[in-house]
Amino acid sequence: MSMDVTKGPTRVYIDPARCIANGKCTTVAPGVYVIDEETGVAVISHPDEATMEQLWAGARACPTQAIIIEQFGRRVYPTILAPMFGTTNDEERDEA
Ligand code: SF4
Repeated sequence: MSMDVTKGPTRVYIDPARCIANGKCTTVAPGVYVIDEETGVAVISHPDEATMEQLWAGARACPTQAIIIEQFGRRVYPTILAPMFGTTNDEERDEA
């Protein structure tokens, strides 16, 4: 299990602070995304076998933008990452 998987130029990772564990990703990509019982947030199970289609499906299904996709080091999904309560301007600038 992993919070972070890289396939070629594409990196998919889960921001645990954004995950509300509602299981949308696990519904559209069962066996790829699972809710970790210890941490209570989504993780990528079997990252080596997960296809990009499954990883993207989970990202699109996530209502809190917790699953983030980068290609060649630049975020491509979600294109606009809504700020979260409690983040400072400095943190937002660092993510840009
Ligand atoms: S859809 Fe998003 S918020 Fe819901 S469990 Fe998956 S990563 Fe967490």
